[in-house]
Amino acid sequence: MRIWLSRPHMSGTERRLVEEVFDSNFVAPVGPMLDRFERNFADYLGGGVSCAAVSSGTAALHLALRLKGVEPGSEVWTGSMTFAGGAFPILYQGAQPVFFDLSPTDWTMDADLLEEALRAAARNRSLPQAVVPTDLYGQSVDIDRFESICERYGVALIVDSAESAGAERDGRKAGTGGDAAILSFNGNKIITTSGGGMLVSRDAGLIQRARVLSTQAREPAPHYEHSQLGYNYRMSNLAAAVGVGQLGVLGDRVAARRRLFTRYRDALARPGITFMPEPDGAHSTRWLTVMTVDPDIAGITREDLRLALLAREIESRPMWKPMHMQPLFAGARYVGRRFDEGLFDRGLCLPSGSDLTVSEQDEVIGVILELLDRRIAC
Ligand SMILES: *Cc1c(COP(=O)(O)O)cnc(C)c1O
Repeated sequence: MRIWLSRPHMSGTERRLVEEVFDSNFVAPVGPMLDRFERNFADYLGGGVSCAAVSSGTAALHLALRLKGVEPGSEVWTGSMTFAGGAFPILYQGAQPVFFDLSPTDWTMDADLLEEALRAAARNRSLPQAVVPTDLYGQSVDIDRFESICERYGVALIVDSAESAGAERDGRKAGTGGDAAILSFNGNKIITTSGGGMLVSRDAGLIQRARVLSTQAREPAPHYEHSQLGYNYRMSNLAAAVGVGQLGVLGDRVAARRRLFTRYRDALARPGITFMPEPDGAHSTRWLTVMTVDPDIAGITREDLRLALLAREIESRPMWKPMHMQPLFAGARYVGRRFDEGLFDRGLCLPSGSDLTVSEQDEVIGVILELLDRRIAC
């Protein structure tokens, strides 16, 4: 592949920070750089949150579910269109997922459907243990609304902000919402630690418990003492050094991805092409530029486009396949009107890395326009 969907983009300071770790010989799962990354991240988010850095976003979500009391027999309600790492941890806890459709207004979990379903569940005394909406493709959910709905029913709210570091909604940063939120620093995300994640909460006690669980639930004793089940989930001090450097350029990375989005949108304003909406009050990072192709109007399908790009060694991808359509989750309950299925059918994520050059983006745009124009001419 010559042009990638989303590549790691170092700022230049990471190498020096990693060298600092080598010089101190804290090439270990804990150390001063890890503390610094957590502190810097909490300062960046503001609002008195605490942070625990872990090995992945998936691990962070697993810890959040466990610490909010999700266990075998409980239900967790989540958006169906998400990455597997946003759904697997529900199964790690032996719980039952229920998958929700997206809202056509912002393409994140539909809060109207949630409210309706919670009202019905409250009547039947069958409320879920937790609700996990996803800040999809760089766009935060309507966090104020989700918080007020979940508070009304006393249901834990865990926000999956894995794709949306740097996003805001109504002046609130992604990662600060709910009882807890998780972020990911996987290699394809807007900032990366090569692999890693963050658990964030205003509940400092919850974060402290997460730190214990993520280091094999060791208790303070000279020998190894355990009274609860733990995990080896802590972020390494070495990876944290990369994170400290990356956090310093998060604002620049958001600006770069938004610039790419605007150029795509302006250049590809053609019948049958639409882009992920950004409602009032939202400031998406445009982690990935997502467009849809209506074959009846555009004369081509999403797949025609993906294959044409691939033939030129340009990576693009369909939107996430909704979890209720995945064989693993066959039989899981689904709530919605199948708006997400239509998006999966027609949606394509375009190369959106913050290091993409103007000429590379022009090449992507050129391939798409060529195909659109050729079909219209026929
Ligand atoms: C990337 C991602 C995760 C998982 O993060 P990892 O760090 O890859 O484990 C979870 N949920 C969503 C929505 C994601 O995009």
